Amino acid sequence: MSRKPLIAGNWKMNLTVAEAAALAASIAEGCRNLTDREVMLAPPYTALAAVAEAVKDSVIQVAGQNAGWEKEGAYTGEISPVMLRDVGATMVILGHSERRYIFAEDDDLINRRLVGALGFALTPVLCIGETLDERETGSTFKVLERQLRRDLEDVRPGQAERLVIAYEPVWAIGTGKTATREQAQEAHCFIRGVLSEVFEKKLAQSIRILYGGSVKPENIDSLMAEPDIDGALVGGAALKSESFNRIIHFS
Ligand code: PEP
Repeated sequence: MSRKPLIAGNWKMNLTVAEAAALAASIAEGCRNLTDREVMLAPPYTALAAVAEAVKDSVIQVAGQNAGWEKEGAYTGEISPVMLRDVGATMVILGHSERRYIFAEDDDLINRRLVGALGFALTPVLCIGETLDERETGSTFKVLERQLRRDLEDVRPGQAERLVIAYEPVWAIGTGKTATREQAQEAHCFIRGVLSEVFEKKLAQSIRILYGGSVKPENIDSLMAEPDIDGALVGGAALKSESFNRIIHFS
């Protein structure tokens, strides 16, 4: 089963509108004529419309970094999936470890966000991953399975076709420590196994699983050589067009 690789950039709480539009245009220039892989950019909300405009004739898809689950209403501080679509986003990152651990988002909330995003035709990139303590005490697989099963509750197989999972070990995010390709492959293979149980094998084989955690130009090629690694979710190295373009052009 061939899965089209996806290289996704998460710009987090960085860049003004003008900086984001310029970076997006430079990345779009670097991915002209790409047909064998997909690219996603997740700017801060304030820059979504400008980035969507800057990449409109390219292969790049634009994503929110989070989303509420209702169309509209009394949810101060939230952005609805419909609002994301309105400014040109087609995808959304959900369950990022910074949301889980800095903003205390739990799996129930992430599940609500995920079901909402799917219901409003956004493609979610669901982030899961263990902390250092969980890895060191041997509970990595237990944590991944618990997050997956709860976050994916009530997702119908027809919706799951669009789903993207990002395995992001918390200890590797923004720390410069990357999981080895063997550690990442082992986790991805386990995640695909759980997806086979939650949905079914054929569907699980078609769902892309990205690796995230200090991905750089120096390690992308070896990560992408692993059979269950279908792309990358990139933070720091997505903030410079030279490094992100090199990652997009992995071999
Ligand atoms: C991320 O924010 O999802 C991430 C993986 O960050 P970094 O690449 O900087 O580790």
